Amino acid sequence: GSAVTLENVRKTYQLGEPVHALDGVSLEIPRGSYTAIMGPSGSGKSTLMNLVGCLDTPTEGTVVVDGADVAQLSDRERTRLRGTTVGFVFQTFNLMPRLNALENVALPQLFQGIDRGERHERARELLERVGLGDRTDHMPNELSGGQRQRVALARALVNDPAIVLADEPSGNLDTETESDVLDLFAEFHDAGTTMVVVTHERHVAERAERIVHVLDGQLERIESLDGGESTA
Ligand code: ADP
Ligand code: ADP
Repeated sequence: GSAVTLENVRKTYQLGEPVHALDGVSLEIPRGSYTAIMGPSGSGKSTLMNLVGCLDTPTEGTVVVDGADVAQLSDRERTRLRGTTVGFVFQTFNLMPRLNALENVALPQLFQGIDRGERHERARELLERVGLGDRTDHMPNELSGGQRQRVALARALVNDPAIVLADEPSGNLDTETESDVLDLFAEFHDAGTTMVVVTHERHVAERAERIVHVLDGQLERIESLDGGESTA
């Protein structure tokens, strides 16, 4: 089955002249796959991520996430899907500065009606999995860039999402730290999580199974990294 299916998706922004940020995009993201999305600035990558992550709805066409047609959902249902089915990792980490690592990781569970003890237990488990079991009480400003990104990854995974979306996840990291974070992505992918990573960096994209190349709001081509090549 598919984690995400886009069919003839168009996204138009209407600020004076209409801009077709996406124009006729059809894409299937299989469950458990690892996809990289590449393309120049302004090509539509963020728009695509926002649709896949249920942060936005298409102007035309359909987006189906984990079996649900996103446009048919109420705002409330969409928010719920976003919180449970999708985990987000951003370049700037987006951690809450006044919460420690454990509290940051526990945060997405607040809306799941899980009690505090259980939330913290689960958060501690995730921090251990990303190698930060000894940093649970640290505030974000007491952590290195790589550690903050690992906290962000733990937070993205805490609700056991079907899909993890990462937008330039290693943009702020040095080479060695980046490599650690990408190893973690590979580990979670091996454990069955569907990974989608937007990146400008070829070597980051090459950790995926395939690269979707976006150009001017369209899929230019899909590059399979185990040899073959197919057109979009
Ligand atoms: P990328 O992430 O590849 O840089 P985006 O998806 O951010 O590309 O943008 C694609 C196109 O849509 C660009 O021309 C951009 O200017 C336009 N765009 C993106 N978001 C908005 C918005 N909220 N309002 C108007 N135009 C937008
Ligand atoms: P990494 O290789 O994971 O990015 P660094 O070599 O940058 O780690 O940092 C090493 C140690 O220094 C880490 O354990 C981290 O807790 C600590 N550290 C890094 N930056 C800061 C900071 N701004 N304030 C306090 N401690 C920091």
